[in-house]
Order: sequence, then structure tokens, then C-alpha cells
Amino acid sequence: MEDYPRNLAEFERRFGTEEVCRDYLVQLRWPDGFHCPRCECGKFWPQRIILLQCAACDYQSSVTAGTIFQDTHAPLTLWFRAIWYITSQKNGTSALGLQRILGLGSYRTAWTWLHKLRRAMVRTGRDRLHGRVEVDETFVGGEEDGIFGRRRGDKSLIVIAVEVEGRGLGRVRLRSIPDASAASLHPFVVDSIEPGSTVHTDGWQGYKGLEQKGYACEATVIGKQRKDAIKLLPHVHLVVSLLKRWLLGTHQGAVSRAHLAYYLDEFTFRFNRRTSKSRGKLFYRLVQQAVLTAPAPYDKLLPDRSSASPAISQSLGAT
Ligand SMILES: [Zn+2]
Repeated sequence: MEDYPRNLAEFERRFGTEEVCRDYLVQLRWPDGFHCPRCECGKFWPQRIILLQCAACDYQSSVTAGTIFQDTHAPLTLWFRAIWYITSQKNGTSALGLQRILGLGSYRTAWTWLHKLRRAMVRTGRDRLHGRVEVDETFVGGEEDGIFGRRRGDKSLIVIAVEVEGRGLGRVRLRSIPDASAASLHPFVVDSIEPGSTVHTDGWQGYKGLEQKGYACEATVIGKQRKDAIKLLPHVHLVVSLLKRWLLGTHQGAVSRAHLAYYLDEFTFRFNRRTSKSRGKLFYRLVQQAVLTAPAPYDKLLPDRSSASPAISQSLGAT
């Protein structure tokens, strides 16, 4: 039974105290009920908000340990408000936007929270795409975006898979890849698309050999003109333009290459739930995945400064 607030008024009425937020986390983390990891006893007493003390052996378990909320010093009510805000906004928010709306003292906290939550947006073992699926690669970022005053950086290559549902779009999967070789493209197809599906590509050699992996392949050879690609793989190109608009609009193009993969996860999370009637359901899903996702400490979120990982910018124009 999925239990979530339907709107802001319900959210505010419900999640006003640390205890209520704690109980919600317990419910989502242990849907069959909490049991003491030492003695299996199912009876416990809450201690200092986030601890559960076993009624039989006194063993203390932390509700937040091992989740993305681990070691947080902030109130759970504030985290819940952040998650509500992030999921109730159709396009999400930048770190600056989150800092302002929550009245957070530091930009770094807002930035860190957003990155922690992005890690919870990918569900492991989620269903693969199926049916008819368009696959293509594109570059994001690049030198021509210097007009935004960002540092110059190389473009990043990503691959996109989109379910085709008649003339409409189904679900998507995206991945940042080092190159367009079969060694990069095949694992993405296998991880993202169910065998037996029809994979529609532009005939690039990196896609050759997918038949042996159980896919029906359809290659449309595309000419030199970009408009041909848009005409022949229209679904994937529509998703690419939405992605670029989102990176530029919500994040002002300030996405570092080291973190691009997580932005792709957030885009995927939002896109695949774009028709969900209740934003509360996105809130529910993100809290649920947050308690099932391993912690990501701040120093692990930082890009490796020794490697070249300049901020990249997005352009709405060329792919
Ligand atoms: Zn116990």
C-alpha cells in the first residue's frame, strides 16, 4: 500500500515532527516490520529520534545508518521538505534554488543534498525497456558554449534509449559513455533493454552484433545531415532536446562532467514519471529509494580535482 501525501497541505499537516518522519522512514525501509538484527525481536522503543532499541536485548539500530541520510545533522523534517520540493517541481531545482526555498545557511549543503538524492533516483534491478526502442548517441556540452561564460571543456558523449509507443514516447534510459564503440554501447543496450525487443539505430558499426544478444535490429542509415537523424530517429532526438533544455534551464548549464551521470539519473527519474498524476507518488518513491541507497559522504561527491573535469555547458543547438 503506497502511502503518501497528495498535496502540499497534506504534506505540511503530516510531516511536522521528527517522530513522524522517522516512522515514515521505518515503514519504507522495513515494509514487513522492523526486527532486531541481533535477536530478530520485532518489538522496539524509539530512542533519541533515529535509534530503535530492541525490547528484548537492548540492541540499538539506527534508522538512517546505511542510507543516504546517514550522519546527517539536519532535522528529518528539513530533509522531507527538500524531497517534497524537489519532487513537486516538474523540472526540479538547482542547488541555489533549494538553498533559497529551505533557507539553508550554506550553498554547499543544498548542493550536497541534491547530489545525495540523485544517487537515490536510480533503482537497481528496475525493469528494462521493451518493445520498440530507438537508440542513439549525442554529445552534450562543448566549446561553443563559451558564450555562457563557463570554462571551456570537451563534450561528453551520452547514449539514449527511448521506448516508442506509437507516435508517443515511453520510458527512457541514458548513460554517459567514454566512446561509441561496441564495448561501450552493447553493455548499455543489454542493461537497458529486454532481449526480444526491436532496437532501432542509425546503422553505426558500434551497434553491430546485437542480434547475437537476442535483439531484433533495425538500422536506418542516415545521411550526413543532422535533420535526417531527427526525421529517422525522432523519439530519441526529442528526448535529447528536452534533456538539453533541462540542463540549461534548471541547472544553467553548470553541470560538471564528473557529475553528468547523476544528472542523467535525475532526468530519467523525472522523465519516466512525467505522466504521474500525483507528485506525492514521486515523493514516496524518492524517500523509499533513499532509505535503500548506500550513503554518499561529501568527499565522495566531489569531482576528482586532479583529473580534467571542467564544468561543461549545454547548448540548445547542435547535437
Ligand atoms: Zn534484539
